[in-house]
Amino acid sequence: MNKISNHLPTAELQALDAAHHVHPFSTQAELAERGARVITRADGCWLTDSDGETILDAMAGLWCVNIGYGRDELAEVAAQQMRELPYYNTFFMTTHVPVIALSKKLAELAPGNLNHVMYSSSGSEANDTNLRLVRTYWAEKGKPEKQVIISRWNAYHGSSVGSGSLGGMKGMHAQGGLPIPGIHHIDQPDWWNEGGDMSPEDFGLERAQQLEKAILELGEDKVAAFIAEPIQGAGGVIVPPATYWPEIQRICDKYEILLIADEVICGFGRTGKWFGSETVGIRPDIMTIAKGLSSGYQPIGGSILSDEVAAVIGATEFNHGYTYSGHPVAAAVALENLRILEEEGVVARFGAQTAPYLKEKFQSLADHPMVGEANIVGGMGSLALTPDKASRAKFAAPAGTVGYMVRERCFANNLVMRHVGDRMIISPPLVITNEEVDTLIERARLSLDEAYEKVK
Ligand code: PLP
Repeated sequence: MNKISNHLPTAELQALDAAHHVHPFSTQAELAERGARVITRADGCWLTDSDGETILDAMAGLWCVNIGYGRDELAEVAAQQMRELPYYNTFFMTTHVPVIALSKKLAELAPGNLNHVMYSSSGSEANDTNLRLVRTYWAEKGKPEKQVIISRWNAYHGSSVGSGSLGGMKGMHAQGGLPIPGIHHIDQPDWWNEGGDMSPEDFGLERAQQLEKAILELGEDKVAAFIAEPIQGAGGVIVPPATYWPEIQRICDKYEILLIADEVICGFGRTGKWFGSETVGIRPDIMTIAKGLSSGYQPIGGSILSDEVAAVIGATEFNHGYTYSGHPVAAAVALENLRILEEEGVVARFGAQTAPYLKEKFQSLADHPMVGEANIVGGMGSLALTPDKASRAKFAAPAGTVGYMVRERCFANNLVMRHVGDRMIISPPLVITNEEVDTLIERARLSLDEAYEKVK
């Protein structure tokens, strides 16, 4: 029998895992040495591991399980769809009911004139679509020279060659020959780390105006689009100063640059509204979606296009698509997830009730001697760790050492928090209760205290 049971001893599962499974963004040698934590079940905001420990998941998996774990309705819908139509493609003049229904729903939910969806199985693939799509758009409009896409350092747009190039992670660019040509990066609006003596407001303007400078340097006739996450997630939950986004929108409008909002994390309630673009007040021409679209229950992503972009792209054949674009099972599950987010009032309740409570509690951590800033928008929060709050100093140890230490203490205390360098990140399921928020904060404080004992 070729079946590996949940009931094998943890050490055996870990050894098999390290022997045959190459993990993303991990060091295999470390996995072989101490083994991965084996997650066996999950319910609501809680994970269970192979030793029977229950862990509060303050990251909603990878920022994706917005409705929480264990919703039977999604399993039922998936099983039913698999029986009825497990697969059919959407190439060559065919379609199916789940993808029609999901597209109609997304057109209703997305703001403004974003009414047309092109699907993928992930955020990375969707951003690869965007890359080709915006260049094709301008070529179709008789401006084939408009090819360059401007992005930001420390942005994360995915791991494929195209999306990894759009992203601005230097560690990723250092491996495998990224970025591809035609992508230009400007600085991020990270006031805590890069703001120096400037006020956050002036700094936000300065960073936004880098976009205008780049457009003028590269040539207005050469720039196709600007891509950005409304609030950077994987870069460390960088909340831009309030001056940043209005200025970016002004510049995109002035120079006719398409604005791509990468809503892979920010979408579907994460910032307290349905989309991060609504929270920061922008009008994107294209939105990248994934993660919360299905709450991670099925791999599905996509690009939502404005009426204008869709009309131009739709006039001729766009030679692009994936075998699983609009997969019927993924589409049916995503639709059921959206139904729960909307009809059960998950997004509305989170925005109106849970997010303000979470904010108050999370910001109370700013009194910890090692926390310089506790910044949170909706359900995306970050603690900037520092040895000296007033000067926003960095630790003597290499960047990320203290963050990793706190993260390890959290994990030992059965709390999943992520560290990005020396920032500690949360992004819990939107169904988190006030009581669970209290547990999250208690465990985070305990973990900070334990790490502080070693650092001070
Ligand atoms: N864009 C953003 C903003 C993301 O945070 C991510 C993943 O974390 C991606 C794109 C890539 O999505 P995926 O991992 O589904 O390819």
